Amino acid sequence: MNSKAQKMELNDGHSIPVLGFGTYATEEHLKKKSMDSTKIAIDVGFRHIDCSHFYQNEEEVGQAIRSKIEDGTVKREDIFYTSKLWSTSHRPELVRPSLESSLRKLNLDYVDLYLIHFPVSLKAMEKCKDAGLAKSIGVSNFNRRQLEMILNKQGLKYKPVCNQVECHLYLNQSKLLDYCKMNDIILVAYGALGTQRYKTCVNEDTPVLLDDPVLCAIARKYKQTPALIALRYQLQRGIVVLVKSFNEERIRENMQVFDFQLASDHMKILDGLNRNFRYFPADMFNAHPSFPFFDEY
Ligand code: NDP
Repeated sequence: MNSKAQKMELNDGHSIPVLGFGTYATEEHLKKKSMDSTKIAIDVGFRHIDCSHFYQNEEEVGQAIRSKIEDGTVKREDIFYTSKLWSTSHRPELVRPSLESSLRKLNLDYVDLYLIHFPVSLKAMEKCKDAGLAKSIGVSNFNRRQLEMILNKQGLKYKPVCNQVECHLYLNQSKLLDYCKMNDIILVAYGALGTQRYKTCVNEDTPVLLDDPVLCAIARKYKQTPALIALRYQLQRGIVVLVKSFNEERIRENMQVFDFQLASDHMKILDGLNRNFRYFPADMFNAHPSFPFFDEY
């Protein structure tokens, strides 16, 4: 695994670049930053861009993608763009208009992947795929039971191609990963560096993942940064990994994840860091009947 263009095949025949660029930034002053950073990310080789209606910056991220198409750096088909349906638009009649509104903001004809941001039904999403507005459809933050419900649904037309979930050394999701692999669903990891420690939802007292002493010791052994070890760990488990940075030096650094390999004994040591710890418990949604994080996985 040493190619920047490395991809994994999805169960519907499309494919997804294994390293994705995260763009989450709802604060006003960060919007322009998300545009500049997305341009840098494309320049240094990222081809998978992860965004959402909820992040309120699809306009800026779309502008970045279009400017890199216009200046000849990439073609539209080189970019794998993911958007997500937010929870206020789950009613079937709101799904397509919501995707169309994202496309208008992006000024693109289609998205490569459209995800349900939080657990609900897939029916109206299937229609978006049929209409060609989304090449692939998938889910996010679904637990095993919720995936199972979808897979067992009578008349299911398209299996979700992926489940995008919080996944890092302290929450390595090994059981959910096994279940996804068994069902030909790709696990996409967010928060792989321990999340942005979002002020509104991550407790300040939680441990900083990249300061973990075991992770730092392995990083020294490989002469790599802890961030690169944390990302590489996910790639070697067959996971598609997202990483957000709005800092040019770190965006460049993150591309170096393809330049080395972790030995299996170090992978095992890293497995041992798991403590089923969720930085992003999404407590604000826990009264909802589909709240996904009460189950073990
Ligand atoms: P990450 O875990 O990817 O990153 C956390 C922080 O690490 C960033 O703020 C970044 O800061 C810093 N960082 C990046 N590279 C390095 C490096 N090489 N060394 C040290 N620090 C580094 O954060 P996210 O929580 O943003 O998750 C990634 C993406 O996943 C999101 O942007 C979004 O696209 C998606 N996501 C999806 C969710 C869902 O519900 N489906 C929920 C949350 C996220 P800096 O910018 O200063 O470099």
